Amino acid sequence: MTDCIFCKIIKGEIPCSKIYENDKIMAFLDIMPVNKGHTLVVPKEHYETILDLPDDLLNELIVSTKKISKAVMKGVNADGFNIGVNTKEAAGQIIMHAHLHIIPRFSNDGLKSWPQSKYAEGEMDKVRESIVKFL
Ligand code: 5GP
Ligand code: ZN
Repeated sequence: MTDCIFCKIIKGEIPCSKIYENDKIMAFLDIMPVNKGHTLVVPKEHYETILDLPDDLLNELIVSTKKISKAVMKGVNADGFNIGVNTKEAAGQIIMHAHLHIIPRFSNDGLKSWPQSKYAEGEMDKVRESIVKFL
């Protein structure tokens, strides 16, 4: 896609700190990292969200992410990592080219995960039913 930043990075039109590439996948450092080593794993072909990816490409993306995560962990001496996928604007997706975030984590990095809430009595069953009917 011509006006997509990640497509431009993949074509080499915008520079990046590339850490991995195969025929279908590319990974590079996020320019504004949550922690140092924060990596984006991206299919070379343009799809807007991970829901749009063909299953075989999604498999490639996940398997590559596993391989790259191990290197990121070792490379920055992390204690753990989060894998994040922001899907659609409401969930914080800014770049509309599907990608996974690998965010290295350190025992003392002070980051908190998202806040949690509670279900009212009986609400959990209703929510479960509303979801499973689409599967
Ligand atoms: P999203 O919110 O869409 O899941 O995340 C997009 C990510 O891309 C952000 O974390 C942002 O810092 C990163 N990003 C945006 N523009 C560039 C760029 O030009 N180069 C690199 N390496 N990362 C970028
Ligand atoms: Zn793109």
